[in-house]
Amino acid sequence: NELYLNGAFVPPAEACVSVMDRGFLFGDGVYEVIPSYGGRFLGLEPHLDRLDASLAALRIQTPLGREDWRALLRRLIGTPPVPDQYVYLQVTRGVAPERDHLCPEGIEPTVLAFARPIKPRAPAIAEQGVACITRPDIRWLRGEIKSISLAAAVLMRREAADADALETIMHRDGWVTEGAVSNVFVVADGALMTPPKSRWLLSGITRELALTLAREHGIEYQERPVALDTLRAADEIWLSSSTREVLPVTRLDGERVGDGRPGPLWRRMDAIYQDYKARVRAG
Ligand code: PLP
Repeated sequence: NELYLNGAFVPPAEACVSVMDRGFLFGDGVYEVIPSYGGRFLGLEPHLDRLDASLAALRIQTPLGREDWRALLRRLIGTPPVPDQYVYLQVTRGVAPERDHLCPEGIEPTVLAFARPIKPRAPAIAEQGVACITRPDIRWLRGEIKSISLAAAVLMRREAADADALETIMHRDGWVTEGAVSNVFVVADGALMTPPKSRWLLSGITRELALTLAREHGIEYQERPVALDTLRAADEIWLSSSTREVLPVTRLDGERVGDGRPGPLWRRMDAIYQDYKARVRAG
């Protein structure tokens, strides 16, 4: 299980980065988490597109070309047949001589990437769903950048765990933004909806895939602002993310969502999603 650091494949214990790295000192970097099933990536190009967009937004130079990223990622997961794995990929602005917010030109980005197994979903989740809490969205106003500065998300996950919940769903001015590490879907009055893309939330690859699959299967949806009140009164709530797929939320702030069981539209979407994954795995 070697990892990739700045052009070399090394055992994790031997992978060293300077304490002057801007990722370490400032959280000055971006990342991606890309899932693979049986040695084939799901959403590779959209993930690499989003990486490019995050790098461009933070004005970090792109360290590798598209074909080099693909080759690196393929090497990290190995050739089929291999287990389901995700690749964590991180690019920081690099190592600067001084701790100065203003970074000199010509610094080489630090590139780190490694593969880890994707844990299969516990069967209890499809039967019982997961619990969430809600909190005001205390993050900055550039949520569309997949930044490694994740203090707010770390705090939100801690608060969720302390409440025996999996995730925190955040809201800004009475409107749902997203989860600490996921996007949010709501079924209310028979309609499937999710907040539209904006600077307040990450444009999730799984969110986009779920919408594409919905379209292909004739499931209507709306990308529109979702009020916190709508969330609280929802028949179904879902979370989406690359490693957790689409999850049913059955408790919100200790109250039942709908009848307290994973809903029928989630069951349908999950079946469609699992089928899509099986096709990715089969190539
Ligand atoms: N929103 C946030 C804040 C996230 O951190 C993540 C993923 O970790 C997502 C949404 C879901 O994005 P994706 O589906 O691309 O994994």
